[in-house]
Amino acid sequence: MTYVILDLEWNGAYCDKLGGYFNEIIEIGAVRLSEDKRIEERFDAYIRPVVSCKLTRLVTNLTGITDDQVRHGVSFGQAMEDLHRFIGEDAVVMTWSNTDLTVLMENCRYFYHNERIPFLSSYVDLQSYAQTRLGLGTAQQVALGKLAELLQLNSEEMELHHAIDDSVLAAAIFQRVFEPLSFSKAVLSVGDEFYRRLTFKPTFIREIDDPLIRRSDLRFSCECCKRNLKRIGEWQFQHRFFTAAFRCAACDAEYIGRVQAKKKYDGVEIKKRLIRKTTEKTKETGGMI
Ligand SMILES: [Zn+2]
Repeated sequence: MTYVILDLEWNGAYCDKLGGYFNEIIEIGAVRLSEDKRIEERFDAYIRPVVSCKLTRLVTNLTGITDDQVRHGVSFGQAMEDLHRFIGEDAVVMTWSNTDLTVLMENCRYFYHNERIPFLSSYVDLQSYAQTRLGLGTAQQVALGKLAELLQLNSEEMELHHAIDDSVLAAAIFQRVFEPLSFSKAVLSVGDEFYRRLTFKPTFIREIDDPLIRRSDLRFSCECCKRNLKRIGEWQFQHRFFTAAFRCAACDAEYIGRVQAKKKYDGVEIKKRLIRKTTEKTKETGGMI
């Protein structure tokens, strides 16, 4: 098995044809690693943009890529063919977070009218894998440069946000965190299910009666006596949350209960919060103590 780590730079520009913003890929960098995880070969290509020939100042400042460099680049189709040849047929492809993949799909959709990525058969989100391996969790995404710093990998001589250097740095992280069993579990086989998951857009449920919300998700218990709270007002939906007033008869305490239900690919994620209402009485007591 070989490994390919891919990194893209793109230019965000308004596209008349699409009637919206389009992230046009302007550079593809990649490294191929051998079975024993040594860098075997590098790939670097500038792509001549056709949607917007002018790079935004943000992109030029961030990547150091100039209009002149991309003007002498190859076409997107050419770069993809060369990259496919570079990757071969049985490599595991990795990117730092799946954002690069979604941008690649966006470009395939625009240029090929098909969002499937031609050379992708096995994939690992290296950011997520590395964060899991280092016990950082995946709730917050850690930037490539930041993670390299944490691992005390020397990135000083590299230009961050330059596709090829980012791939080399990601490869150094990969070499450090790789472990055969966990890695084999992280490899995703690319098929219909993979694309459905990747393109799934999470939404917030807005109807309290939605069958995806369990009744138990809407119950709260008193912070003091642990008894079930009685809801004393209607559920209101605002700012992605359902909110209702609750009361504990035993403690004479009032609360605001908040529930958020986010529909994700694998199911519904529920977030709950209970806030105790400050009454005049407790304020007084608080003041005396
Ligand atoms: Zn109570």
